[in-house]
Amino acid sequence: MARPTKRRQAVPPELSAQVIATYGNDCWLQLPGCTGKGTTSDHIVPWITGGATTLPNLRRACTHCNSRRSDRVLSGYGATVHVVMGPPAAGKSAYVDATASPDAIVLDMSRLLPALAPQVATVHMNSAALSTALSAAWAGTYNRLVRLPQPVDVWIVASLPTPAQIADWVALDYDMHVMEQSSITTAEKLSNSDEMNQARARQWYTLGLTQAHVDALKARRHTQLRSVGLMASIADESKSSW
Ligand SMILES: [Zn+2]
Repeated sequence: MARPTKRRQAVPPELSAQVIATYGNDCWLQLPGCTGKGTTSDHIVPWITGGATTLPNLRRACTHCNSRRSDRVLSGYGATVHVVMGPPAAGKSAYVDATASPDAIVLDMSRLLPALAPQVATVHMNSAALSTALSAAWAGTYNRLVRLPQPVDVWIVASLPTPAQIADWVALDYDMHVMEQSSITTAEKLSNSDEMNQARARQWYTLGLTQAHVDALKARRHTQLRSVGLMASIADESKSSW
């Protein structure tokens, strides 16, 4: 259903007026840096991936958020996006193995590494080059996965998210899991690990991220989404008509 010739679809002013009358003129996205008030009509399912220019698929958004969102899906309206976060050696990959559906797509740096450097344990690698390749593979895949229009399950293992990424993921209603592990346990597990892993662990604990904190952010976001007639549970009913 891709429409590659044109990225944006103009929304007729009468339809935008209807969107405001039905759902209000607050920005529905609430991404970091949101200016609050709608200045554009944004497609919930992006037009480029087949979203209709109709009232149920439109909400008001500020220009900043519309541009920052850049056609990423609202989780459940297209791909359902799950994110697993946590310090090194907290069992993130094992958690995905135990939880993800068999047909899920999984993006996990610890599994990209052996794919790109199968001999890494025995052969000396140029670590800067490998690091570049790993980052590119991760980012390229990530950027596609968060825009998939198909109703697939996507799992992303994100070891060190930034506060802005976390805010984006809450806004786009990702299913978020925090693997909680005390800094003492992590230090014990990493006692023979390299300095890079140790540094990552220290950085993780500066985030102060807990499941309870994420759940509170998500509960507040669900209230906002419901107020503009959107929630993951509604997506299933709406898909058939899109
Ligand atoms: Zn906004």
